[in-house]
Amino acid sequence: MLLYSSAMALDRFNRNIHYLRISLTDMCNLRCVYCMPEDMTFRPREEILQDEELLRLVRVFARMGFDKFRLTGGEPTLRENLTALVRGMRDTPGVRELAMTTNGITLKQLARPLKDAGLDRLNISIDTLNPDKFRRLTRWGRIEDVWAGLEASKRAGLPIKINAVIVRGQNDREDAVDLARLTFDHPWQIRYIEVMPMGRVSDFQKSAIVPEDELRATISEALGPMDLLDGGKLDGEARMFRLKNAQGSLGFISAVSKPFCAGCNRARLTADGRLLLCLLRDKEFNLMPHLRNGATDEDLMEMIEDNIWHKPWGHGLAQDIRPTRNMSEIGG
Ligand code: SF4
Repeated sequence: MLLYSSAMALDRFNRNIHYLRISLTDMCNLRCVYCMPEDMTFRPREEILQDEELLRLVRVFARMGFDKFRLTGGEPTLRENLTALVRGMRDTPGVRELAMTTNGITLKQLARPLKDAGLDRLNISIDTLNPDKFRRLTRWGRIEDVWAGLEASKRAGLPIKINAVIVRGQNDREDAVDLARLTFDHPWQIRYIEVMPMGRVSDFQKSAIVPEDELRATISEALGPMDLLDGGKLDGEARMFRLKNAQGSLGFISAVSKPFCAGCNRARLTADGRLLLCLLRDKEFNLMPHLRNGATDEDLMEMIEDNIWHKPWGHGLAQDIRPTRNMSEIGG
């Protein structure tokens, strides 16, 4: 019998798994070269969690002690009824933090409604400030649209962090420096993400990794030394630094060169209803057939608890174990 009054979902390594990243859709309005192939196809609607199924699962996870939720994709802003979904999640007992990671392309219209619906914060993906390179890296995107979205988010009062995936030979030099330079004039956090080899583009990704130490050296060469913050304590997955006299800070998410699995507190829910225990492993449990064939909330909690308990310790990239799903199907 499961008792979930003051719940905590522990894995067998005694890690408290209380953060759920939810992929709202596998679709995207960009085709970033390090994320998916240009000819990507997407799942039919009936294979995707419907709104009431998603809200039910958020209620179930919240009853189990999950209190931090992040909405991802593909591109989450492509999800229909998005603001109603955000409102529903916000109103779910136990949901303490509700954030979103977006490419920002449609934020100009959506920032205010998302804020009003109860969204707490945004991470906006900007891999370069150079318009030509932005179009090349995203295949279809215009940096002007993202910037307009960022400005709209500021006006709406949504706290912002900027995510940048660093790709060798593409944006690992002056582009990375340009992004860091923003922190002299803005209190933003720029989060540099090491490419992680997965899915159909994993060979390209593996060749494109820029280790954290190399990237930090590149930035300091141009902008001066940076101080380690909080004694190296991670902010989520990021090791934090600040350039001298900067308002903002620089975060390094280095799953490949400096794994942070010991402190992992995450699980993922894919758009097609799979509970993914580790971003970089194929271990997943399909909740969809149970959701659609009469499982009770208690049944679902039992299944989730059992899978969380068997969460892998960490990734196997060092042994060249690569997950088969594309990043776009998981949402990072
Ligand atoms: S690789 Fe897996 S175990 Fe490690 S931090 Fe990421 S999700 Fe957690």
